[in-house]
Amino acid sequence: MPELPEVETVRRGLAPVMEGQVITRAEVNRPNLRWPLPERMAERLTGQQVLALRRRSKYILADLSSGETLLIHLGMSGRMLISGAMVGEFHHDHPALQKHDHVVLHMSGGARITFNDARRFGAMDLMPTATAAAHPLLASIGPEPFGNDFSEPYLAARLKGRNTPIKSALLDQRIVAGLGNIYVCETLFRAGVSPLRLAGKVKKPAALVPIIRQVLTEAIDAGGSSLKDYRQTDGELGYFQKHFQVYGREGQPCETPGCSSMITRTVQSGRSSFWCPDCQR
Ligand SMILES: [Zn+2]
Repeated sequence: MPELPEVETVRRGLAPVMEGQVITRAEVNRPNLRWPLPERMAERLTGQQVLALRRRSKYILADLSSGETLLIHLGMSGRMLISGAMVGEFHHDHPALQKHDHVVLHMSGGARITFNDARRFGAMDLMPTATAAAHPLLASIGPEPFGNDFSEPYLAARLKGRNTPIKSALLDQRIVAGLGNIYVCETLFRAGVSPLRLAGKVKKPAALVPIIRQVLTEAIDAGGSSLKDYRQTDGELGYFQKHFQVYGREGQPCETPGCSSMITRTVQSGRSSFWCPDCQR
């Protein structure tokens, strides 16, 4: 499941071929993804210039010259592929339409952007740009981790007295936007905090803010490097190799110098927490 760094990488990959360009043709090949696609979607997209490509949490938002905004969510398995002759240095031949190529955008600069989603947990919607923040999928989302609102006093206040595990609190999108299982596991390892510890009992809750930003920044940088190698790949955006210190490393040695423990896995609320019982208390 793509988390904030993957979605930001997709946004950065799409920006040069979408921003300032006109959608000359839109193909909408089915009526629904996770939910029904907006009415007359192809018609409402065709001829519109993409004024800006933004990200809010794990959603990509394309502001259009019509005054509407296209919301894109990759869901579990959604992929964005770029093909064609494009601005910048990316060149991939247009492949024939594949199974699960649900939405295809033809851009005035020559790029073809294909949304492929085998499991169809992804979503797209159109809403007025002016009220985009009030969209049901966006309205209750908390502050962006890199925004000024996500301050050390803010997080300390939100965690204070909270009787849920810190793992669950950091996954709560109302507290902070865009964090998922992988980067919460990595954050808690770096902070030395057990995922089982109650949020209200974390000794230095404010210290989590710079660690969250650091973990996400490193992942976004890794995604940026993957974009540089993009010409050698198949045109798919957003999935990149990244080294994790605990995520997916059950039974492997802890990487903290001097620690001889193995990384363990604990299931919390149906999600796997990977952590070191010695380094994280
Ligand atoms: Zn350890």
